Formats: sequence, C-alpha cells, structure tokens
Amino acid sequence: MWQRRIFFDLQPARRIPRVRLTRLIVRGMLALAGVVFASCALVLVAPAADPPVAGPARWEAEIAKLERAETSPSPGGVVFVGSSSIRGWNLTKSFPDRNYVNHGFGGSQLADAVYYVDRLVTPLAPKVVVVYAGDNDLASGKSPEQVADDYRQFVARVHASTPTARIVYIAIKPSLKRWSLVDKIRQANQLIVARVARDSRLSFVDVFTPMLDGEGQPRGELLADDKLHLSPAGYALWTELVDKALAIASDEVADAILFNGQIATVDARFSTAEALAWKGDRILRVGLNEAVLKLKGPQTQVTDLQGKRVIPGLIDSHVHSTGAAMHEFDHPVPDMETIAEVLAYVASRTKAVPAGQWIWVNQIFITRLREQRFPIKAELDAIAPEHPVVFSTGPDGMANSLALKLSGIDKDLVVTGSGFIEKDPATGEPTGMLRGGTKRYLKSNSPPSRATERDREDQLERLLRDYNSVGLTSIGDRAAGRGDIERYDRLRKQGRLTTRVAASHSVNGQDRPEAAKQAIQEIARHPLHDGDAMLRIIGVKTFLDGGMLTGSAFMREPWGVSSIYGITDPEYRGVRFIPDDLLLPLVRATVENGLQFTAHSVGDGAVHALLQVYDEVNKTTPVRPTRPCLTHSNFMSREAVDTMARLGVVADIQPAWLYLDARTLAAQFGYERLRYFQPLRTMFDAGAIAGGGSDHMQKIGSFRSINPYNPMLGMATAVTRRAKWYDGQLHPEEALSRAQALRFYTMNNAYILFLDDQTGSLEPGKLADLVVLDRDPLACPEDQIRDTRALLTVLGGKVVHEVK
Ligand SMILES: [Zn+2]
Repeated sequence: MWQRRIFFDLQPARRIPRVRLTRLIVRGMLALAGVVFASCALVLVAPAADPPVAGPARWEAEIAKLERAETSPSPGGVVFVGSSSIRGWNLTKSFPDRNYVNHGFGGSQLADAVYYVDRLVTPLAPKVVVVYAGDNDLASGKSPEQVADDYRQFVARVHASTPTARIVYIAIKPSLKRWSLVDKIRQANQLIVARVARDSRLSFVDVFTPMLDGEGQPRGELLADDKLHLSPAGYALWTELVDKALAIASDEVADAILFNGQIATVDARFSTAEALAWKGDRILRVGLNEAVLKLKGPQTQVTDLQGKRVIPGLIDSHVHSTGAAMHEFDHPVPDMETIAEVLAYVASRTKAVPAGQWIWVNQIFITRLREQRFPIKAELDAIAPEHPVVFSTGPDGMANSLALKLSGIDKDLVVTGSGFIEKDPATGEPTGMLRGGTKRYLKSNSPPSRATERDREDQLERLLRDYNSVGLTSIGDRAAGRGDIERYDRLRKQGRLTTRVAASHSVNGQDRPEAAKQAIQEIARHPLHDGDAMLRIIGVKTFLDGGMLTGSAFMREPWGVSSIYGITDPEYRGVRFIPDDLLLPLVRATVENGLQFTAHSVGDGAVHALLQVYDEVNKTTPVRPTRPCLTHSNFMSREAVDTMARLGVVADIQPAWLYLDARTLAAQFGYERLRYFQPLRTMFDAGAIAGGGSDHMQKIGSFRSINPYNPMLGMATAVTRRAKWYDGQLHPEEALSRAQALRFYTMNNAYILFLDDQTGSLEPGKLADLVVLDRDPLACPEDQIRDTRALLTVLGGKVVHEVK
C-alpha cells in the first residue's frame, strides 16, 4: 500500500550509501512533501527543555490555565498538544484559516499528554489532533520502546472518547543539542511509523529527514540559538509539512477526482492507485476508488478514467525554449535529411534574401544526414555564389568562399584560443571547415530580427502549450540568459507560464577566475534563486567540450581518421574549451554559492575531467547537496558511473540522440567502443541519478523539432535502444525497464531540477501535476510506446491541455 512508503523515510541515513541513492532521493522528496498517512488528527504533545523529574501533576497550574482560556475551537476543530515546540508555535500566523487550539505545555512528555488527555483533548471533540512529544522523553532517559508505548496509550485514550479523531504525529526532530540521541530518535520514530501504518486514522509527519542536510547533519538554520528549539525557518518548514497533513486529515472536499484509473504514482515503491483527488494545486489523496471518492462534495468535478493510465507530469531536464520558440518566426525551415535537401534550402534562401546577406543553416547535424557528411564548400559556392553561407552545427561549421572572403579568413590567418580552421594540405587554403568555435572569426551581419518582445512571449507561450500537449509540465532550461529568465517571469505574471521552469543560468567558462566568481555570486543573489516551484534559478551551465554530432566531443582516445566527420589527424581527440586551472575555481565558486554546476560534456574525456574536478572540490566542500550535473554525458565508462554515484553527481541525458545518431556513431567508433554510450542501466543499478532531456533547440513540434522533445520517443529509446536507420539494438544490456524509463522522466528529473519535494510523483501533499494517456506505455507493445498521446495534462490542479 502506498501509505507504507513512510517507512523508507526514517531509516538511518547519516552516511548515505551511494548504491541506494535513488531510494534516498525519493525518500528525501517524500519527506519534504510532508508525508502523511491516510488520515490525521492534530494533537501536539511537545517536549520542553530538560524537564524536572516530578510526575504529570507538576503541570496542574498550567493545565488549569489552558482550560480556563476561551480559545477552544468549535467541535470538529484541530487540537495541538505537546511540549514547548507546540507551546511556542505561533499557530495564528501559521494556520490563519484553521479552527484550532494550542494546548501545548512546555517541557511535557508523551506520558503527560496521556495524563491530561481528558482535560485538554477529548472535551473538544476534535476532528484532528496534532501531537509533538517524545523529544523530552528520550532526553530524560526513556527508551524508544517506552516512547512508542506512550504513543499507543495516547492514541487509545483519544479514540476511546472520539473514535473518528485523526491523530497526526510530528516526528521527533533532530537537534544539535540532542544529537547524541539521534539513534534513539530514529528508533522511536520508526516504532511510531509502524504503529501509524496499521490505522488509517493515524498519520505521521516526517520532519526528521528534511531537518538534515545533505551530509545527514542537523540544519543549523532551522534551530533557535539554544540549538534545541525551532527557529522561524524551522517553524516555516513545520508549517508547510503539517499544513499538508491537515488538509488530508481534515477530509477536505476535493476540487477534482479522477477514479477508475491505473495511476502510476512513481512513489518509492512504484505503487499503482485507482483514484486521485486534488484541491487547489495540491494532491489530497491517492488510493483506492472508495477512499478517494469520499472526498467528493457537491462542487467536485469527478471523472471516470475508464481504466486509463495516469502518470506524473513529465519533466524534460534540458531545453532551450526561448530560442527554439523563435526559430521559425522569420520563415518556416523544412526538415532536412539529405545534402540535397540542405542545398535546396540554401537555394531557396538565396531567392528570398538580397545578394550579400548572410545565410545560416543551423544545427542540421551531419550524423543525421543520409550521407553522414558536411556539405563541402564547392557545393555551397555552386548554389550561392553571391551570398555568404554557413552550415553550422554545434561549435563547428562549413563556410562557403564568400563567407571566408568577407571575414578575411585565408591561408595566413593564425587562430588564437580554442579550435582550428582546417586548411588544404596541398595549397594551405582554408577548406571552409571551422572547428571548435572558430566560427567566431566570421564577420556575419544578419539584419536585426523584426520580432518584438510581445512576439517572443507569444511564441514562447505557444511552445510551452505544445510541451503540455505531450505531457510535459516541467522543464529545465539549460543555458538561460538574464533576458530569457525575465521573459519566463513576465509570462508567469501574466498567467501564461504553463510549465514549471528550473533554469541553469549560462556562464562563460573561459572567464578568468575572479570574473567568473563575481558572475556566480551575482547569479546566487538573483531573487529567483529563491524562486518557487514555478520558476527558479537552480544553477549555472557552461560548455566543456564540442559535440558528438559534429566531430568535436573531447574523447579519452583519438576519434580516428574519418570521412564522415572530416577528421584527418589520427591523434585528434576533439576539443576541450575549459582547462583545469579555470574549471576548478569555477566549479568551486558554484558549489560554495549553493548553486548546481553543469557543463555540456559529451565525450568521455570531458566527462572524466569534470568528475575529477567535482571530486577535487568535494574534498573541501561536499558537492552532493548542490546536485552537480553532467550535461549530455554520452560517452562514459564504468568508472565514471561509479564516481557519479559516490559523489552524488547527476546526469541529464538525451535518449533521442541515441535514436537519431547511433547509426553514425557505430560507423565511426565501432560497436564495442559504444559499450558505455548512455549507460542508463548501469547508472540505475549503481544508484547514480540520470534524467531524460531533449536538448530542444529549434522549432515547435515534438517530433519535427531539433532535438525532438517528445518524451515518449525518449522513453521508447531508453527501453528499446533501437535507432533510426540502424538494425538491431545498441547494447541492449543498457536498456531501462519501462518503470525505470518513467522514473527517468519524472522523479529523477524532479531531483535533478530541485523539484523533488513538489512534483515528480503523485502523492498526497505534492503538486497536482499529472497526465492522462491514451494508452499504457508500461504495458503496450514496445513499438507503440512512442505513439502514446496525452489526453489530459494538469499543472498544479489546472488543465493545461485536453483532447476534447
Ligand atoms: Zn543544450
């Protein structure tokens, strides 16, 4: 049953064993979601600081005072009972709309709450009792078993007079002052969880896990100066978690209910539910039809799913939406799969724009052309003698003669910095091939775009709606500039932002350390670094190497002489942009500022280099809490996967590249060298977190875009390892199960994008982000997975896509 997931949240986790990282992540997120069992009540029994020894009678005066106070809620309200953490809680501020009373009394233990239950709790006939106690009990020397036993008594006493009351127990918190008791605290919490799981009227709010940092130590900022009680930030966390529990415990009426479905919750156990209810933007309940339909009121919108599959809203960990949305604003760009189609497109542009105006063909990857090669200069010259033309892919490009001439690129030009300009070995003249960023020598002067900011916002909204139509509810923008972030923010303010956005701010990896550090500090100070689940800056992104689609990924072994990629140097290993002496301080500054670092790292040479730097920084500052990332990470090794798991490094990976490029890569490298190409299964088995992304750069349309952003194509590829124009499977031993593939596009991405406490799975208290599908990708024939369509997409309880 789904309720039992709570168990996983409480296991000792001081040192996180790397092999169990996936589960831990899920745990962490559940914990942050404020996990609750089916029902709850609120009575708080809180501990006070080191109590005197006398029995419960020592509280008589204080209890009498509470009884006299005219603060009682009307019947059916919430009673908070417990020790000083309850007594000192400003409930008016935390729960302004709830009918509650604060009956906490300082220093008390669970046994005290039992003793006074008939004076402080049951006379009020509460619907919910919230209890915090157990902390002082352990401090006074009681055993975890004793605490659990007192809890059982408390429950029995409440239910003896109010059998329907829901009881919400707040986990015993970790504190610096009582850190020596942590093992006992864990045991007591576990014992109580075990009791809670057997009674649907009981629930448990895990405040323990989210009060620890990535290293498993108490988060000091959540505690007051005495290192025992809560700080305002601590109360804010408790409020969030308890509020979710109260929503469920109070049996609130749902806004909407879906029932008779097959709901893949993607919780820690990958459990399936029949029905789901939400209110506002949050999920109220997930479970059996009968239990969920109880939340139906006269206004509730109830939908019979008739057995349809429901999954959490899908997440793409890597897009460039603002640019992609504008790609065809000027004119439609046809699909190009052959050199002839490329040349036909260039020819059509020579007729559309005046002579002398630059023509760029962007990101048509040679690996995806039938001919598997660049168009050559002579071909471009023949159709465009009067227009400078650049065929550009990633950091590389082919220029025609006029483009070279207008840019002053000739046999005498000496390149400074990264990359090189290829020259004919016989004549010394440039061949037109510009490698590794040397396109910077081109003096291109395209006329300014006629698009207004309004146009850009409209196009972006169109694209986000198209994302919704394929089930996407969250995206990671991997290289957002300030302007892009402002555009998302404007859409949000206008109510037109229909996906959650986690942005990696772009930084220049080649900046000197001081300048880089300053840039990073500025990003960390950006108000949206503290953004919410709709829009947030999570970190920074830069580029470490070239691309595999263009022949410039930085490899550990030479690429090999290649007609496909135009490689003549047998020692050539690709292009690396950032040397260690710049990369190390850049990563260090990012980690120290609490931001996620990621770099485009395609080749295994780049992947190893970045992992080595993460390892180095980790010696002084733990990197795990910042979820450092490898972007693309196509070529790996067993060793690299293990290092990822050990350090807590995550990866954002593009399965559609396997689908589109395996044919060319196999021709270039041979099958064996691709053994650890996108080794998803090895990562899952090792406990390294990988999530699926598209690297969407151009066009709107989930299959026609570059790169295609249809997540079902990504899932199908991760499951089948089959590729376009390629027979058989590419290392099927690295294929994911379908459940893993779904996790890869939901929970794992939520973790990678710091959304795991809010979305990525369908559980009470989390945001209602979900998709109803037209078929079941977990069970349909394998070759139909990619054709799966979203019938309904819901973002935070609001419908953002619906097939009528
Ligand atoms: Zn990208």
